[in-house]
Amino acid sequence: MDSLFTMGVDIGSTASKCVILGGDSALVAQAVVPVGAGTSGPARAMAEALQKCGKSMGDLAYICATGYGRNSLKEVQREVSELSCHARGAVRLFPGVRTLIDIGGQDVKAMNISEEGRLMNFVMNDKCAAGTGRFLDVIARVLEVEVTDMARLGAASTWPVTISSTCTVFAESEVISHLAAGQKIPDIINGIHRSIAGRTAGLVKRVGVTPLVAMTGGVALNSEIVRILGEELKTSIAVSELSQFTGAIGAAMYAFDSLSSEQLQNTGSK
Ligand code: ADP
Repeated sequence: MDSLFTMGVDIGSTASKCVILGGDSALVAQAVVPVGAGTSGPARAMAEALQKCGKSMGDLAYICATGYGRNSLKEVQREVSELSCHARGAVRLFPGVRTLIDIGGQDVKAMNISEEGRLMNFVMNDKCAAGTGRFLDVIARVLEVEVTDMARLGAASTWPVTISSTCTVFAESEVISHLAAGQKIPDIINGIHRSIAGRTAGLVKRVGVTPLVAMTGGVALNSEIVRILGEELKTSIAVSELSQFTGAIGAAMYAFDSLSSEQLQNTGSK
């Protein structure tokens, strides 16, 4: 299988992620485009990942898709649920993980993983953007900052404000009134981080906190949310620079399995 490449594509609500594995299952390229299902994001993420490793679609032996928009790609041979791909990718990124927290653009999920690396149980937020990446995106726009700068800004807070609204729309108004009252941007961001971490901690406690605890999804790139959540849960939380690619990595591993079993069948039938 040395020259055969497999691809995993995670078409999220907010971002499209793509990873490519080589014939030995090593990760050879990844790409993220910050638009998701129903946009040009999936095709762009695939093209960018291929370009990074100097390959073309013809070099791919198997493609598996996951995520909210997983059934929208015609190039795909297999679709696997988000939960399965997240669990699979997380076990690869964080060997021994037992509690997995995923905060993406629209969902917050807490999952229990067994010692053998199987998904045992999960809880998800209700259909509400509060506590998700979307919440961060909305507030970043109001504060005229980049979402990628929020951790740094929030860490500089000296007098955190409390954000009491649990609804994104009301929290946005609350932020506007804090701004109008002259509160500093780092202090408002700190309040937002605490609000997200507090909601997430409540969800995680419902599945239980068993170390090793790891966090995935785009919001895992916000080191302040990870830090505050760790304090709330009284545990350290593992993250990776590949955290946002967890689902795509899982999908690529399912693609790799499918390819391997196809090859076994072909060998057996010869
Ligand atoms: P989905 O799979 O639901 O599309 P992702 O797991 O890709 O979502 O996460 C997307 C979210 O990640 C965005 O809403 C954004 O707020 C957040 N995000 C992306 N990059 C960063 C970053 N560097 N720091 C903080 N948040 C980030």
